[in-house]
Amino acid sequence: MTEGKIDVINHSRIAELGKRVLQGGEITRAEGEWLFALERTADIFDLMSWANRIRERFKGNKVHLCSIINIKAGGCSENCRFCAQSALYQTDSPRYSLIDEQSILSAAEEAQTNGVVGLGLVAAWRGLDEGPVLDELCERFEAMKQNGKARPDASLGIIRNQRVADRLKTAGVECYNHNLETSRGFYEKVCTTHSYDERVQTIRHLKAAGIGICSGGILGMGETRTDRCELAFSLKELGANVVPINILNPIDGTPFQDREPLPPMEVLKSIACFRFILPRQEIMVAGGRAVNLRDLQSMIFMAGASAMMVGNYLTTINQPVDKDLQMLKDLGLDPSWDKHGFSDQNGADSEGQNAVTQLEPVLAK
Ligand code: SF4
Repeated sequence: MTEGKIDVINHSRIAELGKRVLQGGEITRAEGEWLFALERTADIFDLMSWANRIRERFKGNKVHLCSIINIKAGGCSENCRFCAQSALYQTDSPRYSLIDEQSILSAAEEAQTNGVVGLGLVAAWRGLDEGPVLDELCERFEAMKQNGKARPDASLGIIRNQRVADRLKTAGVECYNHNLETSRGFYEKVCTTHSYDERVQTIRHLKAAGIGICSGGILGMGETRTDRCELAFSLKELGANVVPINILNPIDGTPFQDREPLPPMEVLKSIACFRFILPRQEIMVAGGRAVNLRDLQSMIFMAGASAMMVGNYLTTINQPVDKDLQMLKDLGLDPSWDKHGFSDQNGADSEGQNAVTQLEPVLAK
């Protein structure tokens, strides 16, 4: 990042794009690339002030909180180079098999106590096919649905068969996380054991089943700003409802262990660019928040984020939930997101209420 006064030409161009998005318009890919390429701190603050207005316009002051629980850890056959859970790398990450129903219901209860709407069940494996594991998982989701403490979400890898997605929907899964991770072009530097197209196809099966799509990526793996821009546009095309932005927290033993961390202002700028490209979606800051942003964590909302993952991540520790809730209170933001649904596709009104994709949250208040 470079210091300096606001460049008048940049200032008016950012304002022009910001106004267009506020009025329901879109920016082009070339315009998105131009935003991602901004360097001066003053320009980035300017960009963030518009991203903040766009967030206010489409999401109000509500913040969507999610948590995850690792229901099967480590020993994964895949080679995602950022991941501590791949069996191919020597890491300190724990390994265990599918946890029992009671542990999941306790996590759902804890989520509710913390005001968290969605609880994602996450498993470290390649993906999900028909068979006894799917049967067992569906029982867990049905139990969560019945218990009603938290919205049953999932992150269970690749789905190759529409029937699997349909079964999950019937069992109560409302939102499924499956990240694109990065741009199509950079993807082969991240993972070679499954393809980008398998990821895209998984999302299509889930959409066809009527399950909400949570899909985003990881910043700081060595990708260019153009790759980040391409990721944002791919997610827009796919119709993601929630877009998690993770920032790489390099794990010892993984091939990405020595990646240089991104400067916090580069992260904030990227979040703001995602908000310009995806004005109506939930933009959720997830893994790597505390370690990469440090004292600038609260600025994610000014940069346009409308959602945050709270509680621990899969293999790394987050800051305590009460600290996050205090941060929201201090900012005057409201974590009681439950009445909003996923109001993110074209057709949502100014409050984001009348969405084409309206998913009823499980939590009734
Ligand atoms: S990201 Fe998922 S699929 Fe990739 S190695 Fe880790 S657990 Fe396996």
